[in-house]
Amino acid sequence: TSAPASNSTAHWRHLDAAHHLHPFSNTKSLNAEGVRVITHAAGSYIFDSEGNKILDGMSGLWCSSVGHGRHDIVDAISDQLKTLDYYNTFFKTTHPAAAELAAAIAEVAPAGMRHVFFTSGGSEAVDTVIRMVRHYWAAMGKPEKHIFIARRNAYHGSTVGGASLGGMKPMHAQGGLPIPGIVHVQQPYWWAEGGDMTPEAFGLHAAREVARAIDEAGAENVAAFIGEPIQGAGGVVIPPATYWPEVQKICRERDVLLVSDEVICGFGRTGEWFGCQYMGVAPDLITFAKGVTSGYFPLGGVIVGARVAEGFIEHGGEFNHGFTYSGHPGGCAAALANLRILHGEKLVERVKSEIGPYLQARWLKLAEHPLVGEARMVGLIGALELTPDKARRAKFAQEEGTVGLLCRDISFSEGLVMRAVRDGMILAPPFTLSFAEADLLADTAVRVLDRTY
Ligand code: PLP
Repeated sequence: TSAPASNSTAHWRHLDAAHHLHPFSNTKSLNAEGVRVITHAAGSYIFDSEGNKILDGMSGLWCSSVGHGRHDIVDAISDQLKTLDYYNTFFKTTHPAAAELAAAIAEVAPAGMRHVFFTSGGSEAVDTVIRMVRHYWAAMGKPEKHIFIARRNAYHGSTVGGASLGGMKPMHAQGGLPIPGIVHVQQPYWWAEGGDMTPEAFGLHAAREVARAIDEAGAENVAAFIGEPIQGAGGVVIPPATYWPEVQKICRERDVLLVSDEVICGFGRTGEWFGCQYMGVAPDLITFAKGVTSGYFPLGGVIVGARVAEGFIEHGGEFNHGFTYSGHPGGCAAALANLRILHGEKLVERVKSEIGPYLQARWLKLAEHPLVGEARMVGLIGALELTPDKARRAKFAQEEGTVGLLCRDISFSEGLVMRAVRDGMILAPPFTLSFAEADLLADTAVRVLDRTY
C-alpha cells in the first residue's frame, strides 16, 4: 500500500502514534482510537483535519481568553522577536518588554501588589512560590516556617513541586509524590462533600479544616496556604461565599501567608481581574499564566505583595532561582498585546456584566433538567454536575466514564468542546464569545442532555 499523503489526517496520526507521547493521556488507547488533529483556529472555533468546526468551550486549556487568531498579538510577538529574539533577565540585564509588562501587571494587580517574577508557565510559577516563600521566611529569621497547606483535589501543575502541592491522588501515585512539608486539607466542594450542611455552613467548615491543619502542624512551622479561588481542573469547584474570607482570617491570625493560584482565574475569567477579588480576599502572592498571554506564547509568573516583596528585597540577598525563559521577550510582547486587547475591548467588564451574566442565566436554568444536580458558573467558568439521582446527589459508576464519553461524543457529533471531570461537564469559553455563540452553547447542552436522559 502507498504511504498516506503528507497533508492527510492518516499521515499525522501515523507520525503522532509513532513518536509523540501526549500529556495526561493513555498512549496505548489513544493510538488505538486515533488522535484528533486540530489544524487551525479562529475566534471561538477550532477546526480539525477532517473539516469539522468545533466551538472551543474550554478556551483551549483555559487560556484563549481573547479568542483565536488575533493578528495584533501575533504581530506584536513577531515585531518583538525581529528586534530582540532573546536575552536573559538574570545577569544585571532587562529588556523593554519585560520592564513594561511587570509595570502593566502591577497596574491591574490588587492594591499593594507591585512586583512580578516571570516564569514560562503555571507549574514553574507554583514552584517559584514554594522556594520564594520558604526563602522569605528564612530571610525573616523564621526558617522553621516551611510547611504548605493545600487542598485535596487541587491542581497546581505537573512539576514535582506543583504536583505535590496539588491534591490529586492519581498524580501523587506516579513519581513518588508529594514532597515532604505539605499538608492537604478538605476542598470546599459542597456538591460532593457537603453532606447535610448548607453551602454557607459547609464553607465555614472547610475553612476551619485549614485552621485545624495549621494548629496541628504548629503555626510557627507553617509558611503558607495555597488555593485556587475556583478549583478549575478539579471540576470547577466554586466555594461557598463564606469560605475564602474565613480562610483569610485564619491565615492572618496565625501569620500564615495566603497564596492565590490564579493560573486559571487570573486576568478576567471571573469578571474581576483576579479571582481573589471576586472572592473578596487579599492574598500575599498570586500565581498566573494562561490568560496573561491568552495562550499565544508561554508565560507565567508570580505577583508579589508588599510584605513579601519588602522582606525578600531587603533581607533576601541573592535569590538562587530562575528560568532561561523568565521574561522571554516574545512572551512579554504577547502579554502586553493581550493586555491592550483586554483593556481596549473592555473584556473583563464584558465578562462581568454582559456575556457572563447572559450565559450564566441560560446555564443556571439547566439545573432544572433531571440529569443535572447542580449548575454553577461565575464569570465565564462553570460546570454542570450530572447525577443519576438528584435527591441523593448520587454519582455515576466511574468505570463507565459516563460523562467522559458524553463529552467526547458531543465534540464529534455537536461540534462543541466541553471537558469532563468525574461527573461534571465543565466550560470556560473565550471572553469574546458572542451572544449567538452563548445560545449555541446552551442549546447544545440542552439537546445533549435531553438525548441522554
Ligand atoms: N495552577 C493551576 C491552578 C492550573 O490550572 C494549572 C494548569 O492548568 C497550573 C497551575 C499549571 O500551569 P502550567 O500547565 O502552565 O504549568
